[in-house]
Amino acid sequence: MSDRHPCCDPYRDGDRTDPNDEQRAGRVRIVETSEPGWSMTYRVECATCARRFTVTQIDGPALRWTWVPQGEKRRRAH
Ligand SMILES: [Zn+2]
Repeated sequence: MSDRHPCCDPYRDGDRTDPNDEQRAGRVRIVETSEPGWSMTYRVECATCARRFTVTQIDGPALRWTWVPQGEKRRRAH
């Protein structure tokens, strides 16, 4: 894949990236969120390349976040 984004590709690795921290740092913009809670989702836009992510916050012993780029080429579910 030639579609590389060094600015935000690292978000997909690991699960300890809090979107609120990234927004405070000016690296992303939180576009919208679900109802706030321990388990919730964010829609986040990279401040550098405008790629959007769906970030799922997962409650557990510690909060975790999974970052999934929107528009990533993937098989349809059906
Ligand atoms: Zn980016």
